[in-house]
Amino acid sequence: MKKILCLLICLFAVCSCARGNGLYTETRVIMGTYVTITLNRSGKTEDELAKTAGDAFARITRVDDLMSTYKPMSNLSRINAASGIAPVPADPEVIENIEDASYVSRLTGGAFDVTVGPLVNAWEIGSKDAHIPSPGTIKRALSLVGRQNIVVDRKAGTVFLKKRGASIDLGAIAKGYASDRAVAALLEDGIKGGIVACAGDIKTFGTKPDGSPWTVGIQNPRGPEGAVVAKLPLTDTAISTSGDYERFFIKDGKRYCHIMDPHTGYPASGLMSVTVLAKDSWLADSMGTALFVLGPKKAYALALKHPELEVLMITDSGKVLATGRFRGMKIAPVTTGD
Ligand code: AMP
Ligand code: MG
Repeated sequence: MKKILCLLICLFAVCSCARGNGLYTETRVIMGTYVTITLNRSGKTEDELAKTAGDAFARITRVDDLMSTYKPMSNLSRINAASGIAPVPADPEVIENIEDASYVSRLTGGAFDVTVGPLVNAWEIGSKDAHIPSPGTIKRALSLVGRQNIVVDRKAGTVFLKKRGASIDLGAIAKGYASDRAVAALLEDGIKGGIVACAGDIKTFGTKPDGSPWTVGIQNPRGPEGAVVAKLPLTDTAISTSGDYERFFIKDGKRYCHIMDPHTGYPASGLMSVTVLAKDSWLADSMGTALFVLGPKKAYALALKHPELEVLMITDSGKVLATGRFRGMKIAPVTTGD
């Protein structure tokens, strides 16, 4: 079902280009989501800008081709298919993501864990088949979760999953990484400023043509799409939001979202959204998910110890917890309840 959905999205991929406001904007569907690139024209012609944006989109497509779990021939799918059987040659970018994910996993006491694949598959959240799995199914899935099951052999350039049935899901880090790669391409092409937004994983660099910073809004987790709780000026900064409002289902009044707690086998709870600012988008993306799993108390304590991250959290009772530049910022109230 997921594959059919992915295919449909690909078939109906949109490409729209906007001109005339001093900026160049183009949107495509990649990684099963909308990816928008906005550029400071930087004195370039329309053709040059289209080519430059194309280069950046190509980097994102490459990440998807390597790391999608919806594409059976992706490098990651082949690693997962060979779990418990044999090591698989892995692209350096795949290895880099797995190692970065491992770092975040250690930093968060295992709250972040890319081996959640079997749990993600058991719950099917985001598809029409989403359901609460039986305790036995959750137990079996949990027995396959744990970063110690991943063996990276840098010298041989391979990745091996020790347990048959284990699988890696880079869904909480790859979009951020893709934004980083796209910005690198734009800088190589001499662009002076822009924004790459892979859904909620956004990287800003440089400035608008008038020298002012870019403005990014933070979604109200209980508001209609586009309703924001705050807007902030950004430059050379990545911003990422993880929330319980994008992929979820409600059963008996309880909300179950797509972010899994690898310790319990159940969706994480306690927060409606977590927004992280960091220098790199892969870090903002993965830490947003990780803090969401940790829940308000532990996440806030960890965020306070990491000044390289600036964090805005909205708890499930609508309380705001903030560090860095979010402190003292005016945040619109969020209504609670499902
Ligand atoms: P995000 O929307 O960035 O928070 O990422 C959520 C996606 O990451 C989910 O759809 C899963 O594919 C994956 N995921 C879920 N739980 C975890 C977790 N605890 N650690 C790492 N990845 C996760
Ligand atoms: Mg994330």
